Order: sequence, then structure tokens, then C-alpha cells
Amino acid sequence: MSQSPLIVWFRNDLRRADNPALRAAANAGRPVVCLFVLDDETPGDWALGGAARWWLHASLGAFSSDLEKAGGRLILRRGRARDVVPAFAREMKAAGVYWNRRYDVAGKAEDGEIKETLKKQDLDARSFNGALLYEPWEIVTGSGGPYRVFTPFWKALRRAEGPKPPLPAVTKLQAPKGAIKSDVLDDWALPPTAPDWSGGLHATWTPGETGARKRLKAFLAGPIRTYGEDRNRPDRAGTSMLSPHLRFGEISPRTIWAETVGAMEAGDAPDGEAEKFLSEVAWREFSYSLLHYNEDFPEEPLQKKFAAFPWRQDEAHLNAWRRGRTGYPIVDAGMRQLWETGWMHNRVRMIVGSFLVKHLLLHWREGEDWFWDTLVDADLANNAAGWQWIGGCGADAAPYFRIFNPMTQGDKFDPDGAYVRRYVPELRDMPAKHIHQPWDAPAPVLEAAGVIIGKTYPAPIVDHAEARKRALAAYEQIK
Ligand code: FAD
Repeated sequence: MSQSPLIVWFRNDLRRADNPALRAAANAGRPVVCLFVLDDETPGDWALGGAARWWLHASLGAFSSDLEKAGGRLILRRGRARDVVPAFAREMKAAGVYWNRRYDVAGKAEDGEIKETLKKQDLDARSFNGALLYEPWEIVTGSGGPYRVFTPFWKALRRAEGPKPPLPAVTKLQAPKGAIKSDVLDDWALPPTAPDWSGGLHATWTPGETGARKRLKAFLAGPIRTYGEDRNRPDRAGTSMLSPHLRFGEISPRTIWAETVGAMEAGDAPDGEAEKFLSEVAWREFSYSLLHYNEDFPEEPLQKKFAAFPWRQDEAHLNAWRRGRTGYPIVDAGMRQLWETGWMHNRVRMIVGSFLVKHLLLHWREGEDWFWDTLVDADLANNAAGWQWIGGCGADAAPYFRIFNPMTQGDKFDPDGAYVRRYVPELRDMPAKHIHQPWDAPAPVLEAAGVIIGKTYPAPIVDHAEARKRALAAYEQIK
């Protein structure tokens, strides 16, 4: 047996189960070297944000010990992947390099270039689908083009032969002989230090494959049964919270799909609720299709008329939004949940997004950038799709003229005010009736709750009715 090893280059696929690249390398009967490269240069504007760096640190730590249990070792290197990967392959006298694909324009260009370089070195360079249920080019319209509307995309996905079943976890790796130089994870200094704001992240998350599987198991054991309604309730733990695990590939969508279908077939999850959940997983697929087929999807509006939209610039309003000090409780609760936990409930992402682009008339890219830096699940495809949707400028987007009313959204989806109370403690003693509109509460109610508008809690930074009018007038200019 040849001793020249295969390298598996890990990126957003930090797992042993259902990992096609790792599985193919493990099956090849050669030693396997596992490599992760921290490349802060190539992704340009989309280098990892702060919360994602915190996650990556913990995830790499967990993955490294998981690999060791299987007899492997994770080698860490830093630099431009274009240089590091081919150089590492030479250093290892490798027979080949395997990886799972990416779908963003920079990632695809880099992977293509690296593949060519490796082939010139006479290496076996292979890529696999480890991130999606189907490749973007597998779910296309009758004429072979991409879908621009979700419902037909979802129907086509559901009509397709089911996703491939997940591959079993790799539990045994043949390690290469001799020592291999690796960076020390802690030396990369990925988590925040000055200040260290990660306390809430530690309290909320367990990065790594084991943590991901636990989340899925817990979700399938309960919340899935009421997912259809509860997925809209930020005051309930009604969703899976799998997004950061999916983002870093600690669990595959195929595993989620297979286990959900299994729960449905076993009668543990009602069909309607499970289907709704699967369709949300398919929104991720749809976003990846948009990313794959639209080169500048994270930067430019899909509907070109929005390039001329009269966005405002207003640092004070932008900062009030970022810090959760807009005076609109549901918006502020969402922005503070994000800051505290690195995650925000989907319904509230839509409310705060609408508030930014409509009430404040600030560019959706400001929101996209802030989310990119603060979300542990910051994902180029999903984040861009979310912001283009809420900005009204995306494929199958919410029309710009439909403006969320933060008070009625609050009353409907956080009816007791529990979510607001949790993240906006200065409103803790406000009765539910007034919690989403405290500035209108009678003086004795405010006094009893210890709230002084403009002092203990901000006055609304814009008037809802006027802001609505202004947004509609701005939209008239490009309609
Ligand atoms: P669940 O409801 O349990 O759904 C399961 C999985 O399906 C999610 O983990 C996610 O991978 C996928 N999914 C669910 N809803 C959506 C959706 N609307 N679009 C795409 N995929 C979806 N999601 C991210 O993963 N990363 C982002 O950076 C991101 N940015 C967003 C920005 C905005 C403005 C908006 C409106 C949405 C954004 N989303 C993003 C989508 C969605 O909010 C999150 O995926 C979801 O809240 C994650 O929570 P969960 O895992 O509990 O979801």
C-alpha cells in the first residue's frame, strides 16, 4: 500500500458524519491528513465576523478532539489558501487533496484555481457536495435555469428523488507517519478579548458535532410538533437553533432531512409541521441557488431598479439600531438578543430588518454587514437572501411597500411581552397591554413600572406613521 497520504481540506464542514470528502479519503486505503487553513485575505469584505470567529475557535477545538478519537489529527495553517494548500500538498508528498464545495464567487474561483494547480502537480484533486441537499444545478426550471421564486423551487425539490441518505461517520483514520507542523489554535486569537463579550455566547451554545446532534435530537423530541405556529413566536423555544451548526457544517442538511423524515414516518412529528420545517431547510437551498447563480448577490440588489433607491445616511440612527436603542421594544429586544447571544429569532430578524430599511431608510447592506459581524450563523447565502428579501429588492421578496408595524408585530408574536422583558430589562415591569408601545402608556402605568420615556428607556427615534409615509414616498421614486 502506498504511504503517500490524501489531504482533506476542511472549510465549512467540520464534522465526521456525512462528510463526503472525508469519507472518500478514508475509504481510499491511504493515510489521511486533515487540514484547516485560516485565510483572512482572500474573502475580502466577507472575512469572518467577530461572532463567527468565536464559533470557529470552539468548533475547531471540538473537531480536533473528535478527529483524534478516530486516530486522526487536524493540522492548522494560516495564510492565503491559494498558496498554503498546494505548498502543504508538496510538503506532505500527498497523492491528492479532497474537499467539499463552496458556492460563493470568491470561493468557487479560488477552488477552481487550486484544483488546477494541484492537477498540474499531478495530484488527485476532487470536490464533493457536503453542504447542500442537492447541487444548485440539480434543482432548475424546465429550461435548465435557476428558480427566482421559492414555491416552484420547493415543489421541484420535493418532486426530485429524495436527497442522498447521509454517509456514516468516519470513525477510523489511518494517520500518516512522522510529525507534521501545525499552528496552535489559541495562537490564532480568534475569540474576542478586549472587551470579551462572549459570555452570552458561551451560555447559549455548544459548538461542534456533538452539540449539533443534541440540538437536532431535542428539536425532534418536542418543538417540531408545534413548529408551524411556534416558529413565529420569539417568546417560545420553537425553532431548532441549528443555524450556526449548519453554517460551520457540524451537521449536514441531509442528516437533518433524513432524521426529520424518519420522525415523520414513525409518527413522532405531524406531517404538516415536519413539512414546514423541511421547507425552511429548503429556503437555505434556495438562498444557495441564488448565491451560486448571481455573482454579486451579497452586494447588489437582484432587482436592478433598487440601485437608484434614495437611501439615507444617518450614523446616529444606525447606531441606535445596532445597540437596540430605537425606542421600539420588539426591535430593541431583537438587536440586544443578537448582541448577547449571537443569534436572533427569524420573525424578529424580519422586524428589525424592515425597521432599518423602511422606518430608518438606511441601506440593507448596513444591516447585512452588522449581522455578518454579530451572528454566529452569519452565512453569505442566507444573510444576503434575508436582507434582499426584507429590502424588497431580492428574488421573491417582500414588496417594499409592505411595511411591518413593530407594535402590531409585537402584540401578535410576543403577546405577553415575555421576549421584550427578557432582553429589555428596563421594561420588565410594564404590563403586556403597553409593553410594545410604552410611550403611549398612561402616566400612572409608566410610573408603577419605573419607566421614564427618554430617560430609562429611549423615546421612539422616528414616528411610525411619518416614517411609513417617508418610506412609501422614497419607493415612489424608483417604482
Ligand atoms: P429553524 O426554523 O429551525 O430552521 C432550520 C434551518 O433552516 C435553519 O437553521 C436555516 O439553516 C434554515 N432556514 C430557516 N429559515 C430560513 C430562511 N428564512 N432563509 C434561509 N434559511 C433558513 N440564516 C442563516 O443561517 N444565516 C444568516 O446569516 C441569516 N441571516 C438572515 C438575515 C435576515 C434579514 C433574515 C430575515 C433571515 C436571515 N437568516 C439567516 C434566516 C433565518 O432567520 C435563520 O436561518 C433562522 O432564524 C435560524 O434559526 P433556526 O436554526 O432555529 O431555524
